Amino acid sequence: MERTLILCKPDCVERNLSGEVLSRFERAGLRIQAAKMMRLTPELLAEHYSHLRDRPFFPEILSFMMSQPVLAAILSGDNAVAKVRELLGPTDSRKAPKGTLRGDLGTDGMHNIAHASDSNESAEIEVRRFFRADEIPA
Ligand code: ADP
Repeated sequence: MERTLILCKPDCVERNLSGEVLSRFERAGLRIQAAKMMRLTPELLAEHYSHLRDRPFFPEILSFMMSQPVLAAILSGDNAVAKVRELLGPTDSRKAPKGTLRGDLGTDGMHNIAHASDSNESAEIEVRRFFRADEIPA
């Protein structure tokens, strides 16, 4: 059993697609262990996207991610980290295959519906980054 962190990004929330996204994960056998709406701060995003700090689009990601609240959720299940990344598809929505969330619903390289942790190690860090221990039901 694994857990992973997802964020339904502002494009997803704005276009009323969060239910569809969560539903696809649930249909794939994943369970929603915790979920909440939240507004992201520049500080939290600078930490979350620190690997992109030197990229030219970094300021744009920050303003995109702060443009609407996001839906943060912890999903659990067998092989949850890899399964969620596979259902999501590659970063650039224009290159993502049909049948993946980004391929079906995303717009481009930045507006790509959702974030998902890319390893077990990042999942544990990101769960703690976005949820307090008392927000995760036992
Ligand atoms: P992923 O979200 O697939 O794990 P990254 O961690 O590389 O990908 O990037 C984080 C986010 O930054 C992406 O989901 C996307 O919103 C944005 N991003 C990444 N690369 C680009 C790019 N070349 N142009 C615009 N936005 C990008």
